[in-house]
Amino acid sequence: SYNGPSFEKATKLRQQLITPSAIPYYRNPVLIHKGEKQYLYDHKGTKYLDMFGGIVTVSVGHCHPKVNQALEEQLNTLWHTTSIYMHPKIYEYAERLTSKLPGDLKVVYFVNSGSEANDLATLLLRLYTKNFDIVTLKNAYHGGNMSSMGLTAQSTWHYNLPSIGNGVHHAMNADPYVGLWGGRNCRDSPVQTNRNCDCTQGKCLAEDNYINQLEAEFKYSLPKGKCAGMIVESIQGGGGIVQFPRNYVKRAIEMVHENGGLFVSDEVQTGFGRTGEHYWGFEMHGIVPDVVTMAKGIGNGFPLAAVVTTPEISQVLTEALHFNTFGGNPLACAVGMAVLDVIDEENLQQNSLEVGTYLLKGLENLRDKYEVVGDVRGKGLMIGVELVESKSSKSPLNTASFIDIWESCKDMGVLLGKGGISGNVFRIQPPMCITKEDADLTLNVLEASLKNQLNN
Ligand code: PMP
Repeated sequence: SYNGPSFEKATKLRQQLITPSAIPYYRNPVLIHKGEKQYLYDHKGTKYLDMFGGIVTVSVGHCHPKVNQALEEQLNTLWHTTSIYMHPKIYEYAERLTSKLPGDLKVVYFVNSGSEANDLATLLLRLYTKNFDIVTLKNAYHGGNMSSMGLTAQSTWHYNLPSIGNGVHHAMNADPYVGLWGGRNCRDSPVQTNRNCDCTQGKCLAEDNYINQLEAEFKYSLPKGKCAGMIVESIQGGGGIVQFPRNYVKRAIEMVHENGGLFVSDEVQTGFGRTGEHYWGFEMHGIVPDVVTMAKGIGNGFPLAAVVTTPEISQVLTEALHFNTFGGNPLACAVGMAVLDVIDEENLQQNSLEVGTYLLKGLENLRDKYEVVGDVRGKGLMIGVELVESKSSKSPLNTASFIDIWESCKDMGVLLGKGGISGNVFRIQPPMCITKEDADLTLNVLEASLKNQLNN
């Protein structure tokens, strides 16, 4: 049972002591103190289905017994050495992690957060290519430290600092729903419909048009042939689960290489089986990137992140010293290894595909029934539901109504995420162990909330 400070006291302490930018999630926030697999419990013992996994971070389930056991064993053996000494876990883990990656992606740098990973990736790109300019896509989220904030292309996360625009170009986002071109058919999803697509005779105009925009970025904005690289989420997460037209990323990586750059897949949200059909999100695009960054689900909630690249590219980090006190900490490596085991042993990638596709289909039914459900998209357990004023306008549902629906889902026991540049997209990215019953509960609760809102 709960024996922490009262809800009122916790609220007061939060307001007084925690950074004022900490976002109060929900008008009536939840005080969570316990977790078990896909469920969370608040101070009163109320049970919630966690359909957002602590921002996509809890990949195999809260307090998973196998992960807990691995952590406990390591706790009683050795907490910490920096990488100045050898310790076995980091090598064993690096071997296991790289065995999951294709091609020459064999050298790992362990760090502690996604922002750090993308910061290090930026360094690798610039050192290896000796170029400075980096391309990311508008609407992307790549982190919040001084360099990754500049990679991020949503003004909500931008402070007025030189990190913004510091050699980073934000290219037009290849968004087939609210972007200039496209339709549902462009996206690589197990749930496909033919409606709302501008493409003719099997040719994807959206793909061509967005790639032309990227070409224009190289032609007009970057120094000719002098690109350090491009960083792309395989499906945009915080930006509201945006999927690109099918061959966009494939053509983007070719263009980056032609311009002297390296390609980074940010797999912070899309990695480790979440997208169902593949272990890594970049596989859905049929590419092998030069650098992969990973965080969140890699540690199931433990501070662990990584950058993986090729032996050749990694050589540039020998030009000077490079060091990270906690990167590859034994506790983190023990957790990371157990997470890899659990994903395999419990077939969580397959579960993401099956339950995710089932949920996507249910959500598509809601889309067909309710005018405000403008778009349903995603792959596996990386799902977005965009709420709009009307299907024809596609303009974001007004914030008050969106928040009402979201909050009402919480009050009925289902926690959903939210995202998108206008904050009007539900993000469904739960621990990968959820069941079809959990999917049904989510569908029922969401439908009830939509109905309540429409009746008001
Ligand atoms: N990349 C992506 C795709 C992310 O979603 C995030 C976090 N939301 C980050 C990078 C940054 O990770 P962190 O918060 O661990 O620094």
